[in-house]
Amino acid sequence: MIVLKSPAEIDKMRAAGRIVAETLALLESRIEPGVTTAELDRLAEQECRRQGGQPAFKGYGGFPYAICASPNDRIVHGFPDDKPLQPGDILSIDFGVLYKGFYGDSAITVAIGELDEETQRLVEVTRESLVRAIEKSVPGGRLSDVSYAVQSWVEPKGFSVVREFVGHGIGRSLHEAPQIPNYGPAGQGPRLKPGMTLALEPMINAGVPGVKILEDGWTAVTQDGRKSAHFEHTVAITENGPEILTRL
Ligand code: MG
Ligand code: MG
Repeated sequence: MIVLKSPAEIDKMRAAGRIVAETLALLESRIEPGVTTAELDRLAEQECRRQGGQPAFKGYGGFPYAICASPNDRIVHGFPDDKPLQPGDILSIDFGVLYKGFYGDSAITVAIGELDEETQRLVEVTRESLVRAIEKSVPGGRLSDVSYAVQSWVEPKGFSVVREFVGHGIGRSLHEAPQIPNYGPAGQGPRLKPGMTLALEPMINAGVPGVKILEDGWTAVTQDGRKSAHFEHTVAITENGPEILTRL
């Protein structure tokens, strides 16, 4: 069942979303060659708690960290570590916050120094695919219009859509109905309504769409070792269209 939120509940989600956005902006401002994802993890937890939030992923299903840190061929759910970031790397950071009973969830992919041309394009196409998904998050549309918006933008550019992980409803739980694949035909699934709150999150691979899970049981990497990018926003559907709750 898709839980609709009242305007007062969306206000609370806006507050949670702002902590997510401010924390990710802080992390992004600190990223440069030599920084480690373990440092970013500590900073994220500190900033989130300073603002009265709880890091939503820490302890979720046993996940041990505040952020998911997924460089290069890591798709999602990577563990922060002590390896310094290198020029030419990309780093996807996924971060969620619980604040006053509601969740916010967002992800960014950040360039470390100069990227090669293909990687630059991968990041831009993935970022834009999220914009297109958000544009389809309007009352009266259908859920799979959002999915189709991502796939139909990404595949003609020569990139591929990860199938194993999907976007999701969000609210009093981090993951609620509905599941939101980033692929599929338009015009299917539930009608979109004001009060729906969705975490939209395209995960896009430079090469094949396939995924492998590392021995830690969490980290998803590309089957072919090529790079992957990920952007996510928590979005509320309102009478006036989509409102991004995790943007400053
Ligand atoms: Mg996320
Ligand atoms: Mg999510």
